[in-house]
Amino acid sequence: MAIKQLTETIINQIAAGEVIERPASVVKELVENAIDAGATRIDIVTAGGGKNLIRITDNGSGIPSDELALAVSRHCTSKLTDNVHDIQALGFRGEALPSIGSISRLSLKSRTADADSGFEIAVNGGRMDGPRPTGMNGGTIVEVRDLFFSTPARLKFMKTDRAEATAISDVVKRTAIAFPHIRFSINGSDRTPLEMAATGVGSEGMLERISQVLGKEFPENAIGIDAMRDGVRLTGFAGIPAFNRANSLHQFAYVNGRPVRDKQIWGAIRGAYADVMSRDRHPVAVLFLNLDPELVDVNVHPAKADVRFRDPGLVRGLIVGAIRQALGQSGIRAATTGAEAMLQSFRPGGVEPRSATQTWDNGNIHSSNQNYSTQQSPFRPFETVPVAASDGHGLAEAVQEFLYDGAHALSADARASTSSPAPELLSMPLGAARAQVHANYIVAQTDDSLVIVDQHAAHERLVYEALKNALHSRPLPAQMLLIPEIVDLPEDDVGRLVAHAETLQRFGLGIESFGPGAIAVRETPSMLGEIDTQQLIRDLADEIAEHDTSDGLKAILDHVAATMACHGSVRAGRRLKPDEMNALLRQMEATPGSGTCNHGRPTYIELKLTDIERLFGRR
Ligand code: ADP
Ligand code: MG
Repeated sequence: MAIKQLTETIINQIAAGEVIERPASVVKELVENAIDAGATRIDIVTAGGGKNLIRITDNGSGIPSDELALAVSRHCTSKLTDNVHDIQALGFRGEALPSIGSISRLSLKSRTADADSGFEIAVNGGRMDGPRPTGMNGGTIVEVRDLFFSTPARLKFMKTDRAEATAISDVVKRTAIAFPHIRFSINGSDRTPLEMAATGVGSEGMLERISQVLGKEFPENAIGIDAMRDGVRLTGFAGIPAFNRANSLHQFAYVNGRPVRDKQIWGAIRGAYADVMSRDRHPVAVLFLNLDPELVDVNVHPAKADVRFRDPGLVRGLIVGAIRQALGQSGIRAATTGAEAMLQSFRPGGVEPRSATQTWDNGNIHSSNQNYSTQQSPFRPFETVPVAASDGHGLAEAVQEFLYDGAHALSADARASTSSPAPELLSMPLGAARAQVHANYIVAQTDDSLVIVDQHAAHERLVYEALKNALHSRPLPAQMLLIPEIVDLPEDDVGRLVAHAETLQRFGLGIESFGPGAIAVRETPSMLGEIDTQQLIRDLADEIAEHDTSDGLKAILDHVAATMACHGSVRAGRRLKPDEMNALLRQMEATPGSGTCNHGRPTYIELKLTDIERLFGRR
């Protein structure tokens, strides 16, 4: 075949293949155009998940009638001067409108402030028609019908209307977060309407917009971030660990105001939370990076979702450092959603029949944390509040038991509860321990609240922090076993464990190989107390196998510490003496990050006296 120049329409369709993957990509491009045009109001209507219709109306600058034809022509843009690195607008490639016009029936109506009327131009599968006058107010209306009608192969890849409609909402929300001063609405027969009012500017307006997108409980469960390093500024909000999700869809990142989905940024967020969240849970975070446009390339991909930083290490360090610091400062804060859920369960008459997911099987927490991934509620804290113990008793009953049967049930162990607590204890953040119920929950009292601590989760966190400290200072004391314990293991596992024997010794775990298929354990860490050595060694072997090749030594150490902490924690079921309970509370107060366990679940919940009074109708 002879060589021929491709037709304009084919070129545009090829470009569309890169820029327009699904209806949501059209919405992204059109919304970005409206933002670039200075709109303060953007209204979106869709039908058939955007496959049948997408209409976007804005009140921006509009397009002069004599430029309408250029707007839908390839490589025509009003946004780029002669420096491709100095990009201020969201668009700059001049590709979106011609691409969309080549694969759909596109209509572009626009009116500038000084024009007597509006003008409309249509593009039908690449063929231009117009411009001709049309009646309209100032701004631009872009209508896209029958998307992909000229490329049926693409159409086959579309998901259900519902899924495409959701993807459109996600794109709009993602973009809206960066532009709180713009009012957005989405309507259509294929969806539930969404309306985001314009909010103020500054970090308060930002937080308000984020709440519109992520829910009103976000502000109470997030910590503000503002950090700067070598000319790169990071602002935004990091969710506290207990406020976690089952997927990473609730992580939003913006580079110079542009929404991006960048693997390096995701990786940095994950790294920042590695210590405080189980691997199958995901933090909620909204991060804005601002830097000299010269230091970042946004033109890596036609859809502009990826970016390339000149110094990726700097950006990663900034994100990890700033989030960790924020989490550290937030100290022992637990998720408010936990207390909320507790209020719900206490509320008279409002107690729902308890479902299986609401029960809390103690067996789950130390064996593996994967058990939680199948639960349905968006926030973990709702389920982890121990609404019902495994014997079917609810928390409410437990507290009642404590109040009514308490008097005679109080053994020597808990006699402290009968006398009034020392005032200096009451003024501590976690208060004075009054009782232990269901062998795992410490009920404590402060000046103005009731605190319930999950002793297993709390202790696990404390042990973990101590183990990590031990790495940097003295090795942990070890306890010699009278008879070495022999653990049979596959040869690979034996090899890997022995390779890390020296490190494990720092933690107080003395092991050596015992023939090719076994490990002899001679010493265990004293602070762990009595442990199931067999299980600990097997879990450690699994952890090391999983992280040996992929992560560095630091990551392995963290995982080893977490595994050990899990084994050494005060198991649910151990009775604690009043002194032990109070000691645990004081230790929690002194330990950064003790508000959540290593898996990101809350270690305690607090019920304010005012809330209790409200429950009784006193307020
Ligand atoms: P780009 O956004 O990369 O410049 P597009 O193909 O998306 O390319 O748009 C081409 C041009 O059309 C833009 O540069 C802009 O001048 C104009 N334009 C598109 N949409 C709008 C709008 N909603 N309001 C005003 N001008 C617009
Ligand atoms: Mg554009």
